[in-house]
Amino acid sequence: MLVPEIALTPQTVRRFRAHFPGQVAVLHSQMSRGERFDTWRSLREGRYNVAVGPRSAVLAPLTDLGLIVVDEEHETSYKQHDPAPRYHARDVAVMRASMAGAACVLGSATPSLESKHNADTGKYRLLELPERVPARENGRPAELPDVRVLDLTRERKKPGFTGALSVPLQEAIQQRLERGEQTILLQNRRGFAPVVECTDCGFAPSCPNCAVTLTYHRSSRRLRCHYCGHAQPLPERCPSCIEGSAPLAQLGTGTQRVEAELAEAFPQAQVARMDRDTTTRKGAHARLLKQFRTGGADLLLGTQMIAKGLDFGGVTLVGVISADTGLLFPDFRAEEHTFQLLMQVAGRAGRAERPGEVLLQTRNPDHPALQCAAHHDYDGFARQTLKEREALGYPPFGRVVALEFRGPERPRALELAEAWTGTLRRRSSDALEVMGPEPAAVSRVKGQHRFRTLLKVAPGRSPRAVQRLLRATGEAQGAPHSGYHATIDVDAVGLL
Ligand SMILES: [Zn+2]
Ligand SMILES: [Zn+2]
Repeated sequence: MLVPEIALTPQTVRRFRAHFPGQVAVLHSQMSRGERFDTWRSLREGRYNVAVGPRSAVLAPLTDLGLIVVDEEHETSYKQHDPAPRYHARDVAVMRASMAGAACVLGSATPSLESKHNADTGKYRLLELPERVPARENGRPAELPDVRVLDLTRERKKPGFTGALSVPLQEAIQQRLERGEQTILLQNRRGFAPVVECTDCGFAPSCPNCAVTLTYHRSSRRLRCHYCGHAQPLPERCPSCIEGSAPLAQLGTGTQRVEAELAEAFPQAQVARMDRDTTTRKGAHARLLKQFRTGGADLLLGTQMIAKGLDFGGVTLVGVISADTGLLFPDFRAEEHTFQLLMQVAGRAGRAERPGEVLLQTRNPDHPALQCAAHHDYDGFARQTLKEREALGYPPFGRVVALEFRGPERPRALELAEAWTGTLRRRSSDALEVMGPEPAAVSRVKGQHRFRTLLKVAPGRSPRAVQRLLRATGEAQGAPHSGYHATIDVDAVGLL
């Protein structure tokens, strides 16, 4: 039984143990090596019938495998990018089940377009659950929540707007507090202010190791890099301006800023914040979720980790602070991921007795991904997006192989990228499009300069031919200089 996040393991394990007492083993990366070894050996000896865990559990040594279930199969956390092996646990599950003569069930309310396409073309069998799972006392399923799209550009001009919370969202939260119901708020950025900037000269402190600006964390009063963890104090004044300049402005909205605004607007409310900063310690996830489940918090505020699979009957309101956060990433799956995230988080509202309401704040109220999410229209979104993917030859029609070249000195990293890309280009045929090398979207991480070349493989092209080409290119190029790396990611996910 595969789950996309460790955070979801306890909930799933609880349910499985209730049904199959004494038969459920858990595998995940936060266990000690000793614990993992003991579990692994018990599974191999056949002492458990069920293994539950995130992506690596797909390799659990069950000897008489009958079924693999991949819950929330569309989640990108099933893809391991770094370090090697670069595998997609969903694809491994399908293959392993096929080799073992077992069934594989991929579950999702918003299937990946790859799986949707496989179902459309008859490679997979489609089993539909047209209604939500019955959760009401009368045995009826809850209706889907009402979704309202709030145009941030317009809402911002109204009096009472606090910076993150529009007036309708504030009113909706107030109502829930009065009725003793719970609210989930999604803000998919952590920290306080994602950008700190001088209003005079435009200077923005950036990481000395990575090509990104630093995020201000108010709790520690420090600027932090979300790629390498570098931290430094917030400068009192702009270091690149003449003396006496204004303090740096804190722009944008992270979870800490929303938390501060909530504390001001609703001083009586208990807020639980869940993001990577509050969940680093072992067991912190489970503690925060328990606090919320048992009514110890009125609001659960967090990044995308709160959107996945959590089932709280008391939640009747879901607010999305900015639905645009992931929309403009330079990734052909950006819209698909935004749509899925919005659908997932909206699905947290009104799961039990009381009906749910969802408010989406956005600067792009007419965007198809948002409109489809607002109308719970998965089929419409899939149809339209698959058509675009087909026209451009992107997955699930063609395939994408991402090659990354990195190293400490920019010219040498670029040289490495150009040498590989040149060889690929000379040896490739019409069925392959070689794009690059280009600096990666984040062109430097942890002191490593990064370049990217994409290989677009035309639909129907044999994977073996691509494999041969990549192998031959690797052999022709030989190993990169010490400290430099060339990596090949077949069926890459997340092209940042
Ligand atoms: Zn950094
Ligand atoms: Zn300045």
